[in-house]
Amino acid sequence: MFYSPPVVPQKWQSAHEAHTQAVEQKFVVVAAWILLITVVVYQFSHDIRSFHSSNLLVTEFAIRMPVILVALTALSTHYFGKPRCSGRLLLQLLALSLMVMILALLLLHLKNGTNEFHQISNGLVISFFGASMLSVRGLRDWPLLFLLPIATFASLAVFLDIALEDVGPLVFDPLMMMVIGMIVMTALRHILTSEFLARQQLREVASTDPLTGLLTRRAMEPLMDHELQRAKRADVPFSLVLGDLDLFKRVNDTWGHDTGDLVLRETARRLKVALRHQDALCRWGGEELLVLLPDTPMEGAREVAEKLREVAEKLREAMIPAIDAHGQPITQTISLGVASFQTDDTVEAIVGRADEALYLAKRNGRNRVEVACRVTG
Ligand code: GH3
Ligand code: MG
Ligand code: MG
Repeated sequence: MFYSPPVVPQKWQSAHEAHTQAVEQKFVVVAAWILLITVVVYQFSHDIRSFHSSNLLVTEFAIRMPVILVALTALSTHYFGKPRCSGRLLLQLLALSLMVMILALLLLHLKNGTNEFHQISNGLVISFFGASMLSVRGLRDWPLLFLLPIATFASLAVFLDIALEDVGPLVFDPLMMMVIGMIVMTALRHILTSEFLARQQLREVASTDPLTGLLTRRAMEPLMDHELQRAKRADVPFSLVLGDLDLFKRVNDTWGHDTGDLVLRETARRLKVALRHQDALCRWGGEELLVLLPDTPMEGAREVAEKLREVAEKLREAMIPAIDAHGQPITQTISLGVASFQTDDTVEAIVGRADEALYLAKRNGRNRVEVACRVTG
């Protein structure tokens, strides 16, 4: 194909929507400043521009007012957080008020026969290009931002007995600029989407452990921070489960490092399948795994840990085909330590308690779950 636009996979669609909204929010600030400055400059530069229709100054100001008001609203939203409007809505309102302004000015001068059409024509070209640049969502915005104002303009022109032959030559260049603007904006959108996809891919590579396919420790840390903030703010419990494969050195020593890798990968896969989709499992260290259980108090976490222990214990049957080459099955168990959020906790403190509980599980014979004691006072 000549050109294929970037496609956002389903799994990244909500992140892409959030990215687009963030771009729109930044874009609207720039657009609002540009419009505010240019519209005010055009209002007060009649003499410099040899524009002699200053008797229409007040009417023109009234026509320009909606653009000024929308631009001020957008800037207020950005700088003061009030009123709370989405970037998309503000961009649409900016483009719509711009189109209404320029078409109303055209109508005004056609009606008054001011013969200043080259000036208006320039304004039309700039505005049509500007409005198409503001339609960040492309063709989806086109009916609202172009079709509606142009149709309203044509109806009013007919109603006011303005000959449409007079208008035709004036709108040719602006319509060309609209098409060019839409093409530029589409290309820009595709570039932004490609950039987004490249960044997501990099992020995914950086947050995925290559051996097990689990999250990396670095990717887990912000998730735990987020959960901690949520627990403090909304008083919802959460727990951590730290697991360590039992006597794993022996697997390596007996069967070799490659078989050790295989056991580790298979254990990780099985544990992941046993968890809910909102739980996060990461490779915390060599053969240490950490589970984050949102909305889960101590008792629930203990049950999850017990389930994980059983899943790992059953690995022996699952591994038989892979281990057959060595002629003997491998038994691999896991010990787990559980710790839950307490008031005024830190992530380090919870991990520390899970680690102590894990140490206890090892000391008490391995292949078992221990729960960290509550710290009181
Ligand atoms: P314990 O029950 O006390 O945990 O005994 P252990 O033998 O598992 O002791 P420890 O946890 O201290 O040792 C972990 C071993 O896991 C040491 C290291 O060689 C091995 N290991 C760590 N990462 C990997 C890996 O990616 N692949 C393989 N094959 N082995 C690893
Ligand atoms: Mg270890
Ligand atoms: Mg170990």
